[in-house]
Amino acid sequence: MTPALTDEHSELISDLSGIVSDYPYVDPEATLAVLADDATDALGRVGSPEGRRERTGYTILLYATCWYVAARVFNKSLFVSYTEALDGFRATLDPAGCTCPADSHPSDLDSEYGIEAGVSLLTGAGRAVFAEDYDLEDEELAAFDCEGFLADLVDQAAGHVREAYRSNFGGVDVSHLDARFVRDDGGIDIVAMQEAISRSWENNTGPVALWSARRRLSGQVRDEERLGLFLCMWMGIAQTYEGLPPSYARDLVAALDTVDLDVSCDHPKHPWSTADGSVQSRYRAVVHLYAPEDHPDTPVPAELSARELWECPVQYAELTRKAQENIKGWRVMRGGEDEDWED
Ligand SMILES: [Zn+2]
Ligand SMILES: [Zn+2]
Repeated sequence: MTPALTDEHSELISDLSGIVSDYPYVDPEATLAVLADDATDALGRVGSPEGRRERTGYTILLYATCWYVAARVFNKSLFVSYTEALDGFRATLDPAGCTCPADSHPSDLDSEYGIEAGVSLLTGAGRAVFAEDYDLEDEELAAFDCEGFLADLVDQAAGHVREAYRSNFGGVDVSHLDARFVRDDGGIDIVAMQEAISRSWENNTGPVALWSARRRLSGQVRDEERLGLFLCMWMGIAQTYEGLPPSYARDLVAALDTVDLDVSCDHPKHPWSTADGSVQSRYRAVVHLYAPEDHPDTPVPAELSARELWECPVQYAELTRKAQENIKGWRVMRGGEDEDWED
C-alpha cells in the first residue's frame, strides 16, 4: 500500500501553508493555539520513538510559524504557549550530539516547505511520503532529527517570539525621534514628520504616530503645532494598514481620548475632506500648511483654507472617530484579549 498522509494532516498542511504565506483562510489565532497545544502535549511523549518524530515535526512547525505569531497575532497567551512548547523541547535536546557534516542541516524551513516537512515528519507514514516526494536518502531524512539542528531552530524561534513579545506588549522607546522632530528652538518640525511618514519603505508610520501621541499627552505643544501634530498622528494610524500592536495602541488611544467628541458647528465642509483622497494629497495638504513657500501646491481649495476651518473642533472629532475605528479594526484583525490591549 502506498503510504499517505491522513486527511487531518493534509488539512493541517493547507491551513498552516495559508498562514505562513500570509493568506490565511482559517482563523490563524485559533489554528496556531491548537498547534502550540498539540506540541506541548507531545512533550510528554519524547521518550518514545513516536514522540521523537513528533518533536521534530512540531519543532519545525513552531519555527515555520513563529514569524506570523510575532508579527500578526497580538495575543499574549499565544506567545506564552509558543514559548512554553519551545522551551520544553529545548530542554530535551542536546546539540552536542550532532555529528552531521558541515552545512548538511536542512534549510528553508521558514516557508510552506517547512510546513509540509513539519507535518509529514510527525508520523512514520508522513515521513515515507515526504522522503518519496523529495527523493530523500535515509541520512537526509535522519538529518531532520539531529538534535543540533532542532536546538538551533528552537533557539531561533524562541528568541524571535520573546523579542516580539517585548515589542508588541512592552514599552516602545521613540525618544530618539526627538532629535529629528524637535528644532533647536524647541518647536516641532511638522514637515520633517511628514517626510518621515512619506518614506513608506522605512515603516515609520507607527513610530511617528506614537511620538505624536506622546508629545500631545506631554502637553509640550505650541498652539500653531497642535493641528499638524494631530494630523501626523492621524496619518500614522490611518496609514498603518497592517495594524499596530498594543505597545503602540495604548498611547494612541489615550491621546485620542483627549479630543472632545461632543461638539458641533455650522460649516458645510471641512478642509480635510478635500485632502483625504490619497496618501500623497494628505502629505501635500499638511506640508503646505506648515511650509507654504517650499510647498505651494495643496489639494485644499482657497475657500476651505482658513485656519479657523482647519482648527474646527468638529473636524478634530470626525478624524478622532475615524482613528478610533481604525484601532478597533486592528484588534479584530490581530486578535488578542481585551486585557492584552490595555495596560
Ligand atoms: Zn546535526
Ligand atoms: Zn466645523
